[in-house]
Amino acid sequence: MSAEETGHARYAYRLRVSSTALAALEAEWGRCRWIWNECVHQSRQAHVFNRSRPDGTEKRTAGPAQLDRMLTQARAAMGWLREGSSVPQQQIIRDFAKSRAKAIKDVKAKLPVNRRAGMPKPKKKREALPSLNYTRRGFRIKDGRLHLAGGIVLTVVWSRGLPADPTSVRVYRDSVGHWYASFVVATETQPLPATGNVIGIDWGVREIATTTSDPYDLPHPQHGKNAAAALAKYQRRMARRKPPKGKPASKGYRDAKRQTAKLHRKVADQRNDTARKWAKTVVRDHDAIAVEDFRPKFLARTTMAKKAADAAIGATKRALIEMGRKHGRAVHLVHPAHTTMDCAHCMARAKHALPLGMRTYTCTACGVSSPRDKNSAHVMLIRAGLVPG
Ligand SMILES: [Zn+2]
Repeated sequence: MSAEETGHARYAYRLRVSSTALAALEAEWGRCRWIWNECVHQSRQAHVFNRSRPDGTEKRTAGPAQLDRMLTQARAAMGWLREGSSVPQQQIIRDFAKSRAKAIKDVKAKLPVNRRAGMPKPKKKREALPSLNYTRRGFRIKDGRLHLAGGIVLTVVWSRGLPADPTSVRVYRDSVGHWYASFVVATETQPLPATGNVIGIDWGVREIATTTSDPYDLPHPQHGKNAAAALAKYQRRMARRKPPKGKPASKGYRDAKRQTAKLHRKVADQRNDTARKWAKTVVRDHDAIAVEDFRPKFLARTTMAKKAADAAIGATKRALIEMGRKHGRAVHLVHPAHTTMDCAHCMARAKHALPLGMRTYTCTACGVSSPRDKNSAHVMLIRAGLVPG
């Protein structure tokens, strides 16, 4: 088997940022943020116009082409915008267009959307974390340092090597205040020997993954639980020290906020680590994988346990897709509708959805009983066409 190019992988590194570079990055981000917010504004205007469009007038669009034109005009008219590199400014328009397209798709598919009318949110100065994207022509690596268009030079902490020339880089700051560079590198598949095995996977709150093969079931890790008490403490502290509107935050408040962000980061790291280890085993031992195309269900106002489950499932699904791609395994994403209502034995559909508390699925058509999540995992396999239905 020969290796072939299949996809992309990201390699992230910590950055050491001098005060000069920091000022330059923040200025660059300020300009990009302005462009993003202008995109939101233009899209909203087009949306409002189209909804009550007089007869005979043409529909207004604010697609990538229109937004590109807006940027060209804005750069011509405004000197401060021209002071910044055009690369991250064009990239943020791409990002906006992608975000808008995804939101529209989710609205059409009636999936839970965290945005009003499928519109990406404006980026607020105090809330949005800086993130700048550079395509190949916007950066170079020289003597181990990262040089960005616009003359910004950053020291990279090369914790591991880059396997190939990167095609793009994202420079961003996390909520803890650390800066990173995340390089995109084209990857080659590393094929694994055929195993003759397939697996179906169902996601859940109790077990992250219930599979058609017991040894691969993944219980809910307790990372979140252990951190929950500490998190609650910091959040109470933040609530107590919350600055009044328009007043600057106290040191105590900022400290509590930083501790909270650090803890979130730690939990996320542990979660990703567990996800990668599990995905590696599943991908190594199976030729094809059928998995529920899970979308987070518990967007707002919900328990910590459900939020943690959502985050863990998201990380595990991502790791599985990435690992499958890396090793040339087929990963089938199965639409989640009715997967808990169908019988894996005879494929009859139950008339009503099973209440969440009911852990056993009993088919009224063929009479077969099985644990609810195991039944769903088998349905994934059948839906993906990996076993005859
Ligand atoms: Zn049945």
